[in-house]
Amino acid sequence: MQSIDAPDVVRTTCPYCGVGCGVAVSVGAGAVTLSGDRAHPANFGRLCSKGAALAETLDNEGRLLYPIVDGKRASWDVALDRVASGFKDIIAQHGPGAVAFYVSGQLLTEDYYVANKLMKGFIGSGNIDTNSRLCMSSAVAAHKRAFGADAVPVCYEDVELADLVVLVGSNYAWAHPVLYQRLAAAKKARPGMQVVVVDPRRTATCDIADMHLAIAPGADAFLFNGLLHHLRREDAMDIAYVEAHVEGFAAAFEAAKTVSSIPKVAQVCGVEESELSEFFRLFAKTERTVTVFSQGINQSSSGVDKGNAIINVHLATGRIGKPGMGPFSVTGQPNAMGGREVGGLANQLAAHMDFSDVSGVDRVQRFWNASNMARVPGLKAVDMFRAIADKKIKAVWIMGTNPVVSMPDADRVREALMACELVVVSDCVQHTDTTACADILLPAAGWGEKDGTVTNSERRISRQRAFMPMTGEAKPDWWIVTQVAQRMGFAGAFPYTQPAQIFREHARLSGYENDGARAFDIGAMCEIDDAQYDALQPIQWPVNSQAPDGTRRLYTDGKFHTPGGKARMVAVAAQLPAIATDVEFPLVLNTGRLRDQWHTMTRTGKVPRLNAHSYEPYVQMHGRDAQRFQLQDGGLARLSSRNGTMLARVQISEEQRTGSVFVPMHWNDMFARSARVDALAAAITDPISGQPELKHTPVFAEAYRPAWQGFVLSRERIALPEAGYCACTQGAGYWRHEIAGEAVPENWRDWVQDALGCSGGLIEYRDAAMGRYRAACIQDGRLEAVFFIAPDQRLPEREWLASLFGQAVIDPADLAGLLAARPPKGAVANTGRTVCACFSVGEKTIMNAIQEQKLDSVEAVGACLKAGTGCGSCVPEIRRILKGSS
Ligand code: SF4
Repeated sequence: MQSIDAPDVVRTTCPYCGVGCGVAVSVGAGAVTLSGDRAHPANFGRLCSKGAALAETLDNEGRLLYPIVDGKRASWDVALDRVASGFKDIIAQHGPGAVAFYVSGQLLTEDYYVANKLMKGFIGSGNIDTNSRLCMSSAVAAHKRAFGADAVPVCYEDVELADLVVLVGSNYAWAHPVLYQRLAAAKKARPGMQVVVVDPRRTATCDIADMHLAIAPGADAFLFNGLLHHLRREDAMDIAYVEAHVEGFAAAFEAAKTVSSIPKVAQVCGVEESELSEFFRLFAKTERTVTVFSQGINQSSSGVDKGNAIINVHLATGRIGKPGMGPFSVTGQPNAMGGREVGGLANQLAAHMDFSDVSGVDRVQRFWNASNMARVPGLKAVDMFRAIADKKIKAVWIMGTNPVVSMPDADRVREALMACELVVVSDCVQHTDTTACADILLPAAGWGEKDGTVTNSERRISRQRAFMPMTGEAKPDWWIVTQVAQRMGFAGAFPYTQPAQIFREHARLSGYENDGARAFDIGAMCEIDDAQYDALQPIQWPVNSQAPDGTRRLYTDGKFHTPGGKARMVAVAAQLPAIATDVEFPLVLNTGRLRDQWHTMTRTGKVPRLNAHSYEPYVQMHGRDAQRFQLQDGGLARLSSRNGTMLARVQISEEQRTGSVFVPMHWNDMFARSARVDALAAAITDPISGQPELKHTPVFAEAYRPAWQGFVLSRERIALPEAGYCACTQGAGYWRHEIAGEAVPENWRDWVQDALGCSGGLIEYRDAAMGRYRAACIQDGRLEAVFFIAPDQRLPEREWLASLFGQAVIDPADLAGLLAARPPKGAVANTGRTVCACFSVGEKTIMNAIQEQKLDSVEAVGACLKAGTGCGSCVPEIRRILKGSS
């Protein structure tokens, strides 16, 4: 590990999304600076807004610093003994099926490997599942059905080489921003390249699209089945390839017959016949085609079939295993792929072996010398939490994830954990919705402290390297699991003292009795020494004697991992989502990511410039739906489903289809009150993959009409218990609280003083007739808080007020206009919501510059304001503002 004072550059990997960008970190004199690693083949120096802000997430604020047992600080020895004895006692009384691990795509491969080995080889249960279940398990199952292995055939370069890129259910621009940047650059260099976006929403990704098919939610399999028929009708199949390398065509074609004519497909998909014909024509004629698919496909009650419907059209045209061609599932998390390699999913074993193959189970048992090998799959995530609720699982260890926010029917998940006999959570963050349910908290190492490997969406294994010492008493996840395994009596099988040892064992298992039948093989790396492990360069698996330097793309020879060596087209009976809308719940709720937040905001929520892009939970809907449900832009709405309710700010947008609404997935109880969107989602899953249908929840929307609305800006975060609605975000030197309440306090001054703990220095303005109240707390000349209340959302803008927290003593000119929210002449103007996170440029600033300086292009805005010239993530938004201003 590098010393904190060493000026050396440490090459590591971004911990956020499945793109797996390389990051070059310099640590000197206690300060960390970072940039994209120009040598890393995933990003060649690029980073998105989240990756570029990583250095701002490294402080200790919010970190879990030491073990906590039953709410009290404990030593590692006490905590580890409690975990080991707790699990052992429950296993002794109720058997191995009464315990479970719920792990995460945030874990490194070495962490994952050890956890999986302990549960499946020594505890003797398959009950280890991962939050990747929620992300891409449908793609895993689709790959296995089609290719005989969970293998992504393409590499990132293929997307750049393609003449047609179809993006299905993927907001690439926000969810995989650097891949989007690479695609945008390729299209700029070759304008003839066509990009088609298939998505019910008009997302930022459409900025570079030649065509946007705003398909009806969940109709994707109808679209691709229809395309299969079209390819056959138009004689656009590669018959020779199908005959030589594919089986199952006739059955797949037959199954696709039910809805196959263009008018019928257009009707089911809710698109115009002409645009559908155009898409089919484009696909049929374009040899070099990549179809990228993501959570919009996977998070479905028929996600596996949807994945196979996509793969079918690539197999029918022979567009796989060649440059610029192939179906491409992009993973959500940094190490979702690594988890798949080691068997982190409950229905997998290890190193791409499977419970369905007895010889594979025996092989893993022999390799591990496992004392209690699991022989049947464990419970997948949704079933696992149901079993916890039913008290069949009595002890669960949750590692690096936040299921109380991210699981469907999230309120029931919280209830289940609160009632569970033993809940252990290892995490680097102390306060999350899930750690609040834990009996034992174990402090895990965070990014910058961890050492191991991750695998990105193109099968590329990269090192995540430590560049700073561990915070407090934090320990690596592999170490924590190893210690528990030793205390449970399995010391001989868990001798690990460093991650390189684990990696070598993992590599050896991948090559063990592997005659090429298993796609995942990194056997050539099983004897690397510690120095070689430290210096490991990014490499794509397989890495074996045939491919010692790794493998860029798979299936170049048309040989697949099925017993007969042929790929399988799957008969897909296209279906619409499991639960349809009805009179009671007439809108379809879709969920997804924001550009600048990651998962449950535990890290990105610490960065003011990332928070400034979107500082409240919102529900985006079409104007006609807003009218229908009597909602106002900027007002508050209550969304309800059969499972739960939430509150969010209404955002009217023509980018939504009528009948559909969109809510970001990130908000949780640590940052908002009543804004966990997955509390609304039903625990309905794909029958094969077990992946929940998070993209399609029937909901009802109604106006939430509080008695008052307001905001508080304060140096410290404050609790506002009477506010029925509250969203908090951290700004530069202050906290922003957007609030609303149902009961008007008897005395606002008392309320403010209670909330702020402000004993003196309060200045106030009251207009009782208009229901307005404003106050500011000033102590020793310094602004501590401002408090604005109104009967509705018509409130002053916040930016100038927020800028006053940068003053050690408030300027008298600013003080004069404070409660009127009126800046003095020449003061920083209200800049609006941040659009460019790299250079903190607000929406209003851009609009004003466009108007005043007659700017007419993204480049002109960049030259004038620098906006859009950093990571590039905001370019689609700048173009949207330009369009709106013209
Ligand atoms: Fe990190 Fe993904 Fe952004 Fe790359 S694209 S910097 S991996 S969040």
